[in-house]
Amino acid sequence: MKNISSYNFKKKRALIRVDFNVPLNNEREITDDTRLKAAIPTIKHVLKEGGSVVLMSHLGRPEKGFEERYSLKHVVNHLSNLLQTQVDFVKDCIGSEAEAATKNFKPGDVILLENLRFHPEEKKGDKTFAKNLSKHGDVYINEAFGTAHRAHASTAIIADYFPDDKMFGFLVENEIKSIDKVLHNPTSPTTAIIGGAKVSSKITIIEKLLSAVDHLIIGGGMAYTFVKAQGGNIGDSLVEDDYLELAMKLLDQAENKGVKIHLPIDTIAADKFADDANVKTCKTNNIGKGWLGLDIGGKSVEKFSKVIEESKTILWNGPMGVFEMKAFQNGTVSIAKAIARATENGAFSLIGGGDSVSAINKFHLADKVSYVSTGGGAMLEYLEGKDLPGIAAIKS
Ligand code: AMP
Repeated sequence: MKNISSYNFKKKRALIRVDFNVPLNNEREITDDTRLKAAIPTIKHVLKEGGSVVLMSHLGRPEKGFEERYSLKHVVNHLSNLLQTQVDFVKDCIGSEAEAATKNFKPGDVILLENLRFHPEEKKGDKTFAKNLSKHGDVYINEAFGTAHRAHASTAIIADYFPDDKMFGFLVENEIKSIDKVLHNPTSPTTAIIGGAKVSSKITIIEKLLSAVDHLIIGGGMAYTFVKAQGGNIGDSLVEDDYLELAMKLLDQAENKGVKIHLPIDTIAADKFADDANVKTCKTNNIGKGWLGLDIGGKSVEKFSKVIEESKTILWNGPMGVFEMKAFQNGTVSIAKAIARATENGAFSLIGGGDSVSAINKFHLADKVSYVSTGGGAMLEYLEGKDLPGIAAIKS
């Protein structure tokens, strides 16, 4: 496999699949440029090594071809500023205009192509579309971990046209390295913290983690299904009754594998799903009718924090409560802080999955943990042990 650090980019056109799917407000201004910033090291590296760069990405979910609000032209100026280099924009990602623009490219040039998803062929993984895209580069770099679990034209199929000149960018390389470290090469004790709304969406990952960790902390809405399965009174808390049996099975599996499961012992319960609800702290297995658990309580924070601070490898996916509301954010903030303290003391910590990433950013702790994954769904699928088309296409 080719490697971005050792590849000779001199006079080569690098076609880079980036993830510039950034949030825009109604004025079409970028409200969070994390994804743009994340791709800068790879782009700068190619330029420094004497190559030129053609960038391709999707933005949003266009349904019917071109839609102004999803045009990548909205990111050009900000990207130029970040790179301190002029970025040219081409109004379509394939066709004669785009081909002419990338054909006589000079080292140091940077071009951004228009949104790939204005062509339905992108998501269909169309071969002809992939071939047309491939004309823009001499070497292909996949720097979009967030879409690596999709077999789209620009993320997977295109790699066939670069049999000897395909590689990962720095970002994807780091993502893979970080997840592999947790799954295959962890320093013990290892702890996974899983939270969020539903058990049903996290079953496969929990099963996989049971073979990889020493401790599994379960918080958030999904914890109540486990507590109810054990006979607890969870009041009106979130529950998936169809999964009670499976929850018990997972607890048994954990015991057989010697994995310690930690469920919240106390809960912040509310009389309605709102920031201004009346609240009470109670045992998680004795919440009572009319009350719903929306955050873990102080004793659970203490118990979970102790496990986390004694760990050497930590994975966190999913919030401990409804952290979007101030009244129920304490559990999630406290766990994030415990992970930061453990990291300071030498643990390796990986934060992944949409809401835990927003939480760690919201509480300004992103630089206090070892790695914050950019790929929500892709990271979960990789953790579950699935073959991701975007990764497989480069490795094959
Ligand atoms: P997920 O996408 O499955 O990781 O779920 C994240 C969502 O779970 C967030 O929007 C949280 O507000 C929500 N959540 C966390 N704890 C609870 C809870 N106790 N009750 C209801 N929703 C919760």
